[in-house]
Amino acid sequence: MNGIKGMLTFLLILCLCVPAAAAAAGEETSSLYVRKVDNLPEDFLFGMDVSSVIAEEKSGVRYRDFDGQEKDLFRILADSGINTIRVRVWNDPYDAEGHGFGGGNCDIGTAVEIGKRAAACGMQLLVDFHYSDFWADPGKQMAPRAWAKMEIEEKTRAVYDFTLDSLNRLKEAGVPVRMVQTGNETNGRLCGEKSWMNIAYLMDAGARAAREVYPEALVAVHFANPENTESYRTYAKKLDYYEKNGLIHYDVFATSYYPYWHGTLENLSAILTEIAQTYGKQVMVMETSYAWTEEDSDFSGNTIGGGGGITRDYPFTVQGQANSVRNITDTVVNGTPAGIGVVYWEGAWITVGRNSWEENHRLWEEYGSGWATSYAAVYDPDDAGKYYGGSAVDNQAFFDPEGRALESLKVFRLMREGNEIPAAADALEEPEIVCDLSMPLELPEAVNAIMTDNSRQPVPVVWLLTEEEDRRMHESGPAQYEITGEAGGMEARCRVSMIRYNYLTDYSFEEGGEAWRFTDLRKADELYVEEKKNDSLTGSRHAHFWSAAQDSVEFRLEQTVQELPEGDFTFSVAVMGGDCGQTDIYAYVLVDGKEAARSEQIPIAGYGSWNTGVIPSFAHPAGTEVTVGIYVRCQGQGNGAWGKIDDALLNSAR
Ligand code: CA
Repeated sequence: MNGIKGMLTFLLILCLCVPAAAAAAGEETSSLYVRKVDNLPEDFLFGMDVSSVIAEEKSGVRYRDFDGQEKDLFRILADSGINTIRVRVWNDPYDAEGHGFGGGNCDIGTAVEIGKRAAACGMQLLVDFHYSDFWADPGKQMAPRAWAKMEIEEKTRAVYDFTLDSLNRLKEAGVPVRMVQTGNETNGRLCGEKSWMNIAYLMDAGARAAREVYPEALVAVHFANPENTESYRTYAKKLDYYEKNGLIHYDVFATSYYPYWHGTLENLSAILTEIAQTYGKQVMVMETSYAWTEEDSDFSGNTIGGGGGITRDYPFTVQGQANSVRNITDTVVNGTPAGIGVVYWEGAWITVGRNSWEENHRLWEEYGSGWATSYAAVYDPDDAGKYYGGSAVDNQAFFDPEGRALESLKVFRLMREGNEIPAAADALEEPEIVCDLSMPLELPEAVNAIMTDNSRQPVPVVWLLTEEEDRRMHESGPAQYEITGEAGGMEARCRVSMIRYNYLTDYSFEEGGEAWRFTDLRKADELYVEEKKNDSLTGSRHAHFWSAAQDSVEFRLEQTVQELPEGDFTFSVAVMGGDCGQTDIYAYVLVDGKEAARSEQIPIAGYGSWNTGVIPSFAHPAGTEVTVGIYVRCQGQGNGAWGKIDDALLNSAR
């Protein structure tokens, strides 16, 4: 930590949160705060991907409504305002012995079953062809085993036939299909093909089959990572080129949008607007989800948990999940022309059991209710075949581990009219504090509550930190701590980093050395801050000296310290060099211009061999001015004395 002036205990970031009590259920009134989405069309596509549901039910999972009554999942979803069920279709997700690869074992037979159940509840189907035997996404677009050796002409025919046959089976079963996807998250690859020409052939084959069987259905292309706007421009432009040449006529440009990784809503709105307007396409969010808890419930790790490194615009609460869906919908409806829908991904993929990994593993293997089984190794040995397991999104479902619908599932209905009840505290922000070991720790007197409408309100907090714990934190060296407390009836958390603060400005010369003063006593040939990573102790810059003539190197390099508190301090600085002959090199401290301390001699030991001069302790009395520095004198030998100076540290001595 360098370059921090003034306040030595200060707030860095506010971002993490802890959940409050879950919202209470109730059919007529809801504790869920929902801002109305204006202009929401009656037929707006509210979709739910439930591709894993058949495998879930076979594994013993039962779903319950808001009151805890066991009910058909499709009935619960339809009653909650979902009008479209999305299902992925893999060509052949089974090994030679008929063992399923998992992830719901989603072949066309499974899709037919799901489609019939959806239709029975008045919902339509959105068919997501992966054109693969298992998961297809930006990282994987493997062709099905049966098509692996095909040239593009034959593969195109295969895609057409497979799509035609699959959709005919749905049609024969009386399933109403609203939309067909020709590939899943096809970021520049599809079905083993990498050239846009070949991708266009395959997408076109799928689209032609879709229009033949379901002329009313929309044809969608689907990509991921809208934060890479340049890539999205490329995808849309390539498709436009092939469309103008008679290939791949599609209706909907669809995107995944997982808020943790996929950029802001403003960016989403901007890129979808650009594509909709430039190419006259409809646009939509084809996949999204948001965590309502950090907790895993099936003994198989989740993609989103308590860790950092992701964007967390809302707390991981039932309300936070609803707010995410509401704001994405508002963006698609009101921030994007021709925005037609939002589909939530795998909102019912909950745990198959609460007892143990072993019990669940048996069910995942037998029924395919986890993301992958060990049998998938025959197709995807390096990923699925190694890391097979359960649901990685059980904490992002709309159902709790017992299968009961969360209050957040009401968001789809409630956003039509709004449920703008008085905002209540839903979670607490988690402040992060950085504190020098030598300074008193000052914890904030209030923390922000995240309100149900996602606004913030400060709440007084009582931290549970004893004097003894405080003392130990100061005496245990640099370390990270989590302090807990209580605020507004919720558990508050504060992360504290105890650091050894460096009071020097530009301690490693990375900012160019402006804060440092060279005093050249013998006119060295070279004496300046140099940029050369290999010659630096840390970073890419350091102070450099060189002079050819004998005894022409003698200088001081020093810094007068700003805003140093009263107390005991330690100072050190590192040097390396060569050809220096006899030397006199040491670190020093001046108090009010007079030398107060000096290190032992710092030897010069050759290239890359850094030695550090250390002054273990010196006093800084109140009202005095401290200057720290290094004195260098070299007789030189051979081709002249040279050296490098880096990383000056001025820390509290305690
Ligand atoms: Ca899990």
